[in-house]
This record gives sequence, structure tokens and C-alpha cells, in this order.
Amino acid sequence: MGKNEEVERIVFERISLLYEMAEKTEDDKLSRRYIRILREIAKHHRRRVPNGIKRKFCGFCGTLFLRSSSTVRLSRKGYISIRCGSCGRETHLFYRQP
Ligand SMILES: [Zn+2]
Repeated sequence: MGKNEEVERIVFERISLLYEMAEKTEDDKLSRRYIRILREIAKHHRRRVPNGIKRKFCGFCGTLFLRSSSTVRLSRKGYISIRCGSCGRETHLFYRQP
């Protein structure tokens, strides 16, 4: 296994673990902190947060959508718009190439 692949694997493992912790904790503040750390790890290693994880939290405040009363709308322009129930801002997730 090349060094790059190994870094990739470790980064992915850490991100997944942090995401699990964010999902499991009862503490909203702690949950947001885990998400913040997760994003910092990705940024530090110049990796993207995997899509399956990225679409589960608010890109602005890091609140998990399943925790806040978020509103999901489907746009005709090819994206899903999720309004965060915590900070009120909208995250757009593309489901088709724009
Ligand atoms: Zn938010």
C-alpha cells in the first residue's frame, strides 16, 4: 500500500469515528465540536469529507440535521436544499452535476 493510500485510509477512519461520536452523544455542543474537528482533519490533510457524511450536517454551524428540526426542499435546479433548524442557513447538496 502506498503512503498516500495509507494516509487516505487513516483520515477516513478518523472522520468516520468522529462522525459516529457526534451522532451518538446526547450533548449537542459536543456533537458540533466533533463535527468541527472532523472538518479540520479533512482540511488539514487536504481531503474532502466523504459525501455520505458531508450531507448529514450543517455546513455552517456543524449541527447534525437529524438533531435539529431541519427542512428539506427539492429544487428543480438539481439540488436538495436543507435549512438548518439550528442556525437557519441553507446547505445545498447537488444530486446531479450542475
Ligand atoms: Zn446550521
